[in-house]
This record gives sequence, C-alpha cells and structure tokens, in this order.
Amino acid sequence: MRIARFSTGDDPRYAMVDGEPGAEELVVLRGDPIFMPVQQTGETIPLNRDDVRLLAPVIPRSKVIGVGRNYADHAAEMGNELPAVPILFLKPNTSVIGPDDPIVLPRWSHEVHHEAELAVVIGKVTKDVSPEHALERVFGFTVANDVTARDLQRAEPQWTRAKGFDSSCPLGPWVVPGLDVDDLAVLARVNGTTRQDGNTSQMVFDVAQLIAFASQVFTLLPGDVILTGTPAGVGPIVHGDVVEVEVEEIGVLRNPVVRRD
Ligand code: MG
Repeated sequence: MRIARFSTGDDPRYAMVDGEPGAEELVVLRGDPIFMPVQQTGETIPLNRDDVRLLAPVIPRSKVIGVGRNYADHAAEMGNELPAVPILFLKPNTSVIGPDDPIVLPRWSHEVHHEAELAVVIGKVTKDVSPEHALERVFGFTVANDVTARDLQRAEPQWTRAKGFDSSCPLGPWVVPGLDVDDLAVLARVNGTTRQDGNTSQMVFDVAQLIAFASQVFTLLPGDVILTGTPAGVGPIVHGDVVEVEVEEIGVLRNPVVRRD
C-alpha cells in the first residue's frame, strides 16, 4: 500500500495510490490515516489530472529527527570517524516541502548538498521503546532529501542553520507502510546523473536501533519523522538543477533547485 497526501486546489486530503507508474489513481480516504483506520470515500482521481498535486505525505507534528554519519562510506568521505552512538539533530517542520516543490538555496550559503535518505514516519506515541519493539511504532516509510548547507555545517558547531532552513527537508512522494527496509537501494540523481548509490544494509545503526535510541531522548509523536542518514556521494546542487532521490520499493522524490537572489 502507498499513502499519499494531495490537493486539488482545496484542503489537503489523503489517498491510497493504486496502479502502475504513469497510470496511478488516487483512492481517496476519509481523514488522516495516521490517526484513524483507512476508510475509502468511494472517490477515485487520476494522479495525472491537471489539478492534482502531491504534497509532502506527512507534516511532522513536532519534529524531524536527523541522524549524522550513519553510513561508514559517507563518514569516511567527510573525513569523520564512525560515531559510537547515533548523532542526532533536529530539522523544524517548516523545513518540509513536498514532491516538485523547489529547494530554495539560502543566500547565506554557497555550497548546498543533496543527501538521499530513507525516512521513517512514526505512527504511535513512543518513549523508551526497545529495538525489538521499535518497528511496531512505525506508520510507514518515505523518501527524504536531507538538504545541507555544507559550508555552514563546517563553520558552525550546531547544525541548526546548515540543516534546518526552509525547504531543506523534501519528503515524498508517498508513505509505504509495512515495508521491510533492511536491504533497499538509496539513490540520488542530479539532472539524471547518479551521484549516490547506497543500500540501507550499509547503515551503522539500523532503523529499529535508531527509533529506540531517539525514543530515549524524545517522546516520538505520530507524524514525527526520522531521517536515517545518507550513503556516500553527497555533492553540490545549484540553481536550475533537478535532484531526484529514490528509495527502492518506495519511489522517486523529485525537486527543482532555485536561487532567488
Ligand atoms: Mg543526512
């Protein structure tokens, strides 16, 4: 099952996405499926209809939690040692954008990078969960781009500005519940050229360990999102680029890049 959030020009609604690529249909749902059982309204809408726009599949209620250096080859390319415990940071929910929304490069950075990541959407209030029970707290999985102002990340000890600016957290195109995420390709392409080609099997701390660790720090709320780290191959994006992040079995998240100054 794939669950999307969409608009036809009015308030956002949710839908199951059926059908093959290029011929998908939105099977409209009542309410927000994170908070109520999946219930169809009976309406179906072609995804490619002119007035249909996919939105970020979730707006985090309280936080996006990021994880630094969770792939050994990425830690190495940045010249860092592997951490003994996960390195957590926060991105505000105002950083979230959806499919096809522009990544707006901040005028105070001159080196902004893509980071292809698997994202976890929390489904239940969670505190101090064990790794063994962590996946029971998950609503589903989506694709994220942990857009990072690399020059600011190097210059400042806190990553708030480097990773928290508006449009620095593209999410989408939809959420897939019940997915086995132990062995999925994680890719980034810029203007069609592959930049990152990793696999979730290369994570230092797996998804269950990350949820358990984060839940020792924060109460996780339904709709909160955990970004699980990026594989090697991060690199710059500039005005006019189109960046695609793909996670196998989920889909492709595509965003144009613009500079407005
Ligand atoms: Mg990252």
